[in-house]
Amino acid sequence: MNAIELHIEPPRAATRDRIVVTNPYDGSEVGSVADMPPQDAQAILQAAKEGARACRALSRHERARLLDACATHVERDQAAFANLIVAEVGKTIRQATKEVLRCVNTLRLSADEARRNAGEVIPFDAYAGSENRQGWFTREPLGVIVAITPYNDPLNLAAHKLGPAIAGGNAVILKPSELAPLSAMKLVSYLVAAGLPPNIVSVATGGAALGEALVSSRDVRMVSFTGGFITGEKIARSAGLKKLAMDLGGNAPVIVQGDCKLEDAVESCISGAFWAAGQNCIGTQRLLVHSSIYEEFKRRFVDSAQALKAGNPKRADTDVGPMISGQAAARAKGVVDAALSQGATLLCGNLLDGAVYAPTVLEDVKFDSVLWQQEVFAPVVVLHRIDSLEEAIGLANEPEYSLHAGIFTNDLEAAFKAAETLEAGGVMINDSSDYRFDAMPFGGFKYGSLGREGVRFAYEEMTQPKVVCIRRTARQV
Ligand code: NAD
Repeated sequence: MNAIELHIEPPRAATRDRIVVTNPYDGSEVGSVADMPPQDAQAILQAAKEGARACRALSRHERARLLDACATHVERDQAAFANLIVAEVGKTIRQATKEVLRCVNTLRLSADEARRNAGEVIPFDAYAGSENRQGWFTREPLGVIVAITPYNDPLNLAAHKLGPAIAGGNAVILKPSELAPLSAMKLVSYLVAAGLPPNIVSVATGGAALGEALVSSRDVRMVSFTGGFITGEKIARSAGLKKLAMDLGGNAPVIVQGDCKLEDAVESCISGAFWAAGQNCIGTQRLLVHSSIYEEFKRRFVDSAQALKAGNPKRADTDVGPMISGQAAARAKGVVDAALSQGATLLCGNLLDGAVYAPTVLEDVKFDSVLWQQEVFAPVVVLHRIDSLEEAIGLANEPEYSLHAGIFTNDLEAAFKAAETLEAGGVMINDSSDYRFDAMPFGGFKYGSLGREGVRFAYEEMTQPKVVCIRRTARQV
């Protein structure tokens, strides 16, 4: 693919440094974007304040029509979007195509939300004392929203913020990951081409300093962030009094009970662990397998992991593409090497070739290792033998944060028990942790989690209720 240049520039054009976006598989240049310094934040915010007035003035059907039109055009050009995702993040072409189709769905769900979620009648006469009042609440825009996204789902995670923000009548400043800003910028250019009035969506390309300048502004009403814990903590410290949505990391456990359908469990956990080279916030990291089937599960799981084709993400038969960079892959290998030096056993993988890190499976991992306690965000999975469901649930709930969990079982009571006691934002039964439907509430439990995405839920976070109450002098019946 030729290097692409997207002409979405800051309002104050000047000679400036550029960020070169590199293909993680072959190191070629995919494109470049302006490296905006923090001083650019003021002009971007000023334009967004005008955009907030413009978006507020759009009727619900106009917002919905724009989002639907954009969805139709993204669907039409799905191959171009998918190729760009492959080039800038190294997802395989199958994975990238799925992400594009999810983005189309996210935009259409956002259009639906604009049409339907306008507020509610308030039953004032439901309690004594307000019989002569009638009214409702509307869902009003917040104003300017700053949306900050990570590299790993560069298109659909941007759509999960832009779609609900526009549906709710807000202006939004998108700061995509500097590692992979191009697909999100292409999406914004499609929104503009669909007729979105100027300044409703702007793109701020740059690093942490630019992000901080936007986040700390008093003109911003909400920061919607998806990314890592360390960044989330920094943003929370600099944001001050404004709404925060925090979609952070995970370290997902999946319990495999002795009574499950083994074939399904293996197949689903392989996909859950190695999808997008494990760079997936709900990717399966810890497999808690009952001792009655442990050896058989291990044999089949390791065979399947070794059969995966790792390499060129452009090829239709590639299962595992590169990680975002050679540095990220080397960091993952470092975490695995540390676990091995603490006594873990390597079952397969731990081989590095540039940014391609082979699917890696371990057992005997110590509970106090980084690999057990924290998110590795790489194609690495840990097997652990358990003797009871209670033991598995205790271990699953150990880390201080979580997103999704899963259980494979044919025992209804065990499934209910897991659903009730696993501390996670989503519990998948007879599926790995890696299932998400774009309309469902999505977010974490425990440390760091604030708010929910999933279009209706993000829309509600991005709007504020306003009550209108009419007092009548006499009640007619
Ligand atoms: P990251 O935290 O390094 O970066 C995310 C974004 O924050 C980037 O755009 C970056 O430029 C920006 N940023 C960095 N410092 C900033 C600062 N001080 N102020 C403002 N913005 C700043 O995350 P990453 O490595 O790109 O992504 C991986 C992480 O994202 C993983 O932890 C993963 O679990 C998480 N993630 C979570 C979800 C979810 O929905 N919960 C989805 C995908 C990824």
